[in-house]
Amino acid sequence: MSSIHATSLPTGHALREAIRRRERSAEEITRAALHDAESLQGPLHAYIRLLPERALERARRIDGLVRAGEPLGTLAGVPVAVKDLFCLQGEFTTCGSRILENFRSPYSATVVEKLEAAGAIIIGKTNMDEFAMGSSCENSAFFPTRNPWDTTRVPGGSSGGSASTVGARTVPIALGTDTGGSIREPASFCNIVGVKPTYGRVSRYGMIAFASSLDQAGPMTADVRDAADVLEVIAGYDPMDSTSVDVAVPPYASELPDDLHGVRIGIVAEFEASIAQGDAALAALYKQAYKDLERLGAQLVEVHLPHAQYGLATYYLIAPAECSSNLARYDGARYGRRVDGDGDVYAMFDRTRAAGFGDEVKRRIILGTYALSTGYYDAYYVRAQKVRTLIKSDFDSAFAECDVIACPAVSCPPFELGAKSQDPLAMYLMDYFTIPMSLAGIPALSIPAGYVSDLPVGLQIVAPAFHEGRMLAVAHAYEQATQHAAARIPAVRSEGARAS
Ligand code: GLN
Repeated sequence: MSSIHATSLPTGHALREAIRRRERSAEEITRAALHDAESLQGPLHAYIRLLPERALERARRIDGLVRAGEPLGTLAGVPVAVKDLFCLQGEFTTCGSRILENFRSPYSATVVEKLEAAGAIIIGKTNMDEFAMGSSCENSAFFPTRNPWDTTRVPGGSSGGSASTVGARTVPIALGTDTGGSIREPASFCNIVGVKPTYGRVSRYGMIAFASSLDQAGPMTADVRDAADVLEVIAGYDPMDSTSVDVAVPPYASELPDDLHGVRIGIVAEFEASIAQGDAALAALYKQAYKDLERLGAQLVEVHLPHAQYGLATYYLIAPAECSSNLARYDGARYGRRVDGDGDVYAMFDRTRAAGFGDEVKRRIILGTYALSTGYYDAYYVRAQKVRTLIKSDFDSAFAECDVIACPAVSCPPFELGAKSQDPLAMYLMDYFTIPMSLAGIPALSIPAGYVSDLPVGLQIVAPAFHEGRMLAVAHAYEQATQHAAARIPAVRSEGARAS
């Protein structure tokens, strides 16, 4: 086993402190993470590509700064993985798709530049559902990723590779994206912290678009402190993203309390009715989580989100509509793959798209094109936008009565590979509890909340727009009091330890 895991599963802030105190070098930590990623690739398949030369070169640069006594960034020397839809200049970016298999990014995403400017060492690009469409990572054009807590199960999706590698603690930090739940659901499945920031909080520049009015990048981390550090680094105004909002970024990491006195936490009546009809063990786990929040001093108040039940139907009109327009650019002329049209440009378009996109992507393009077509536009797309407004105003009313909302992140623990891949609707239902927040554009996170049949489950904490600090504070107090993730080691790690 690599030394990085000899004693415990480290956090990013612990590694950073070890580097600052010169107990360990960034190069040694990076080598260990790369070695670990390689040895777990067989059981997990979390990475599409590792970047050893680039990573080691940057790690040595950090070690040089340490030796020279230069100031170090927040993430100096910390190994990080990024979902393979963030552009990294000169490197391949596939978005989990054959159509971009050979695409090299001409520039880097703003969030990637910010991470590297803070000293983070990007060790690789992680697997994902093709174009971020999916909830299990089985829609990757290359291979499915597996869950470090049980390798017969999915890690969630679409940021499944990022969740799996952080869940296994190969790296303490990864970047994911969340359009309808793609950070929060895999975070729940892999027992890590996953944060979807407010829409506009984090730049989307250099991030391959799925549904532009919903897509947000965010941290997937070992603990809340790491999430706060990463959010502080990647958040903020970017003139390269027209939807980026110019609101000051507070020092999230220095505002993490240990109790919740004076905090009003909303419990959503409609969600509780729905969870009560499902798995009894899961319902009991969430009840316990609310009790734990109360024990920390919070006051629980009942709130209502009457239109949240329409979230899924609304999302599956808006997201495919935006995707059908965003994905029109993959025509074989400008990006990545091209299949020859025997002299006919339309045949080239058709053949390229037929060969380059997988079934789920094609399904979404067809759904979205239909919803936007003449005669259906008002009936579907415009109505969906109206319902979206109702969902957002439900949250506005709820937040008049509480500071944050606590609710389920998922309706089940991680499921077996293949269990839902033949049934798109069953897969779509995985995001029942996460989609309303995406439609409302508000921040939400998932935090480890315990286990059902030894499988991890996450609790969702939701805040009003631009109140990520409040949400992280509640999550931190809960994490410190419960220590659910710290209490156990993922199965893939204990099997590996036995083998070595
Ligand atoms: N699972 C949802 C979908 O397939 C959400 C995906 C996401 O957040 N990127 O669209």
